[in-house]
Amino acid sequence: MITLDKFYIGGEWVVPAATNTMPILTPSTGQQVGTVALGNAEDVDRAVTAAKTAFETFSTTTKEERLTLLRRLAEVTRARLNDLAEAITIEMGAPATMARDAQAQSGLGHLEAFIAALEAHDEEETLPNGDIVSHEPIGVCGLITPWNWPINQISLKVIPALATGSTCVLKPSEHTPLSARIYAEMIHEANYPAGVFNLVFGEGPVVGAALSQHRDVAMMSFTGSTRAGSAVSRDAAATIKRVTLELGGKSPNVIFADADVDAQVAEGVGACFYNTGQSCNAPTRMLVERSVYDRALEVARMAAEAQEVSDPAQEGDHIGPLFDQIQYDRVQALIKKGIDEGTRLLAGGPGRPEGLPQGCETGWFVRPTVFCDVSPDMMLWNEEVFGPVLVMAPFDSEEEAITLANDTDYGLDAYVSTGDEARARRMARAMRAGGIHINGRGSDYGSPFGGFKQSGNGREGGRFGLEDYLEIKVRPPFVA
Ligand code: NAD
Repeated sequence: MITLDKFYIGGEWVVPAATNTMPILTPSTGQQVGTVALGNAEDVDRAVTAAKTAFETFSTTTKEERLTLLRRLAEVTRARLNDLAEAITIEMGAPATMARDAQAQSGLGHLEAFIAALEAHDEEETLPNGDIVSHEPIGVCGLITPWNWPINQISLKVIPALATGSTCVLKPSEHTPLSARIYAEMIHEANYPAGVFNLVFGEGPVVGAALSQHRDVAMMSFTGSTRAGSAVSRDAAATIKRVTLELGGKSPNVIFADADVDAQVAEGVGACFYNTGQSCNAPTRMLVERSVYDRALEVARMAAEAQEVSDPAQEGDHIGPLFDQIQYDRVQALIKKGIDEGTRLLAGGPGRPEGLPQGCETGWFVRPTVFCDVSPDMMLWNEEVFGPVLVMAPFDSEEEAITLANDTDYGLDAYVSTGDEARARRMARAMRAGGIHINGRGSDYGSPFGGFKQSGNGREGGRFGLEDYLEIKVRPPFVA
């Protein structure tokens, strides 16, 4: 049994003020593998005080000093990629190969991109009018992350805070504390000064709310559900904090008849099911030009039926279970509700997949599922399922494709496949989303990630990710 009974505050592992704990469960069996301590407002206050004290000196460090620390963190991260991957597989069920090559690797990919962005970043600039603008660290940052891409999200927040000379308190998802604990060990090993990074485990409405309300926290960066994001905004309002939000999505995937239809439909199904459908930017609404719609349904059905679901401890390109019982029950309920509403089921459906390996029968595995002929008045058109559930619909013209693609409260990513470059550019311009994928290709580490509309505000990654953590100060040129 793993016991996480300490928080990382002021450069050391300390006993929490709170005495509550919760079990850590592993999704492939549903069994308990450990226990994690849950903090309270007193623990948050202690961590914020440590971060505030550390900010006094850390905010005066030079860019070169902070680059040296980041480069050391990169070495430590490289050495611990396997540990991170194993932790992620245990705590949220990402299959071993994907946990290592995508989930853990993202911690290094984002770090390297932030190093490059910081190297190129000018801390001072002279405006055309002669005034001088300096970009200065914002202060103590409160960072709240979800369970679905735990290290990806932690590194997108912790690294820009530390790169700019800010200090931080991280509250990771209470469901994924194992990888967060390793991240704190890595920061310690990289020799960051005490108090620059602090870690408090706990529940959102307790630890997350206390952080959001704290008067000594200058900024909140939040990734998670729209519901919790708006709670953070409300809690932060009284103290006029900066709030950046990365929230949910229901991303459209528009496939035109002039694309390589078979390849792009199969790719789109795989991208929707990747991470067992638990990615905020998954392409979950596939819109296909009517002349190739029947062919697309056939390809999607075959791809869904061929999608292997298996034990996350095994290497391979299968998908694993959903991350917990609540998510399992929710996805099952949404699949049933879709069927009850009369939505046409093309593949999958309720229940567990057949042929799960021995030992996995009690895990939170679901069947890769595809619904078709879905229209905007149907629940599954709008609802973020956060499971391997794809919906498909036909369209007749480019204009209709744009209307349908934008018919959502979200605007995180949007996908388009076409053989016509001019059309790809028009669609990229017309679709209201923060990131566009073209013919199966998305953007790389260092590019801005974030959403339009109710998918949030602010951008993470690279130069734009650094800017969220900086204040702007202006002064006139010196005249004696
Ligand atoms: P969640 O909102 O339940 O939890 C996310 C984090 O917020 C957790 O650390 C949780 O403890 C905390 N939290 C919950 N209530 C809170 C409150 N009242 N105040 C402060 N903190 C609170 O979301 P989840 O189930 O962990 O993650 C899934 C959601 O996250 C999905 O909607 C998904 O689309 C979204 N997500 C978005 C992105 C993105 O970058 N846009 C990335 C990953 C996940």
